[in-house]
Amino acid sequence: MSPLRALFMKIGVIGFGAAAIGFISELIGTDHEIHVLERSKDIYSSSISGIRSDGKIFVSSTMGGELEIPLSIQQNVVDFYIDKLDAEDKKSVKTGVSFDSNSEYFDAFYAKGFEPVNSIFWHIGTDKLGSVLTRIFEEFSAFGNIHFHFGSKVDEIDVGDSGVVVRGSDFEADFDRVVVAVGRSGHSLIKRVTSKYPEIVASSNTVDIGIRYELPDHLVEKINREMYEFKVRLKTQTGYTVRTFCNNPSGKVVLENYDDFVTVNGHSNSDGSSVNTNFAILCTTRFTEPFHDPIGYGSYISRLSNILAGGRKVILQTYEDFMHTKRTKRLGRVSPTLPDSGYILGDINLVLPRRISVSLTEFIEKLSSVIPGIAYPDNLMYAVEVKFYSNKINNGRYKNLKFVGDCSGHTRSITYATGHGRLLGRTLK
Ligand SMILES: Cc1cc2nc3c(=O)[nH]c(=O)nc-3n(C[C@H](O)[C@H](O)[C@H](O)COP(=O)(O)OP(=O)(O)OC[C@H]3O[C@@H](n4cnc5c(N)ncnc54)[C@H](O)[C@@H]3O)c2cc1C
Repeated sequence: MSPLRALFMKIGVIGFGAAAIGFISELIGTDHEIHVLERSKDIYSSSISGIRSDGKIFVSSTMGGELEIPLSIQQNVVDFYIDKLDAEDKKSVKTGVSFDSNSEYFDAFYAKGFEPVNSIFWHIGTDKLGSVLTRIFEEFSAFGNIHFHFGSKVDEIDVGDSGVVVRGSDFEADFDRVVVAVGRSGHSLIKRVTSKYPEIVASSNTVDIGIRYELPDHLVEKINREMYEFKVRLKTQTGYTVRTFCNNPSGKVVLENYDDFVTVNGHSNSDGSSVNTNFAILCTTRFTEPFHDPIGYGSYISRLSNILAGGRKVILQTYEDFMHTKRTKRLGRVSPTLPDSGYILGDINLVLPRRISVSLTEFIEKLSSVIPGIAYPDNLMYAVEVKFYSNKINNGRYKNLKFVGDCSGHTRSITYATGHGRLLGRTLK
């Protein structure tokens, strides 16, 4: 990269996802000279989350991250993204409130021991997120102080007394400040930086492991209509907390690709695309001394499911067979939305540790007492779904090097990651 004259401060932003967007949006048109180094080859092959986000954005004080992002900033973030949609697309954004105090579901879940999670949400849709990102890129590019460098995968970061040097395979650049915003997909860079500067790691001990559940829309029509996204948590008898996550009415189950294994996920387009609803049921697994490798634990279980499935596939089982711990040989009335090439019919009990499968069973059975039909025998379970959390980073350690968004371990949603970026951006105005 060619050396450029510093105007005020020369800031390197690594990654162009939600957190970077939040950070840059605070500094457009200022005297700071901002260089965005994004590994995707251009904006069209780039995507918020690096993989595939469902485009559901929330305002909530109880989910999305472990930082305090004021609700006014969260609302501002939502408005910012919605504003980037075409007039026509704005009309198709679904919105609603999960578990407001008038909801009859709130009481029904509460009575069975669940904690209903309150949020306001907007569903933009996977299909629309690409154009939102492109529009943001075009708007940012119009400001003279923002420079984009696509195809720039950063491999190394060195902190000096007066600045920070970043390196990729064919470039080197130095900055007064560097903001790392590489999300979860940038974990190899984070691993390298935290190995070099272990003092910035505050903690790491959690991984969420579970399944993707799929059932016909008509069984959950009422709750989908009332709140679209229902999030509930339950402290089960094993001591583990189990939760629903990422509900996709008329959605599809998809594979999530990692370098050495695949897991399962789900999404839905803005206009719906199937007759099934899918959502994750996840068990939060926390470790204590001497174990320090929750990512290794989740990866190992994911790989085990792939080994049993004979390749880069997940295991699919009916709920009835899961309960009887026997391999599924044929499916019933529910047709999987994941293509045949992505799964093998099998037995999830061979993959999940007993403490997790017992926790999931208790959760599903209790859920069915609130939503009849949840535990029907031919409903589908895909294994495994895993949510990895990055190490929590202590941002106070270096003045010139900051981590925002999911790679900092403090956020896990578009709203919180963007808000985190904004809060940091404001400190540099
Ligand atoms: C399948 C899926 C669905 C999701 N659905 C939702 C949803 O519906 N709603 C929601 O709120 N959240 C959702 N999330 C979570 C949400 O996408 C993230 O919390 C959010 O995008 C985090 O923002 P970020 O900026 O930290 O990272 P990202 O948005 O992931 O951005 C990181 C960027 O850094 C780039 N990068 C990575 N490594 C490097 C490197 N070494 N050098 C240069 N660039 C690099 C990546 O290409 C990427 O563009 C989903 C996540 C996944 C995986």
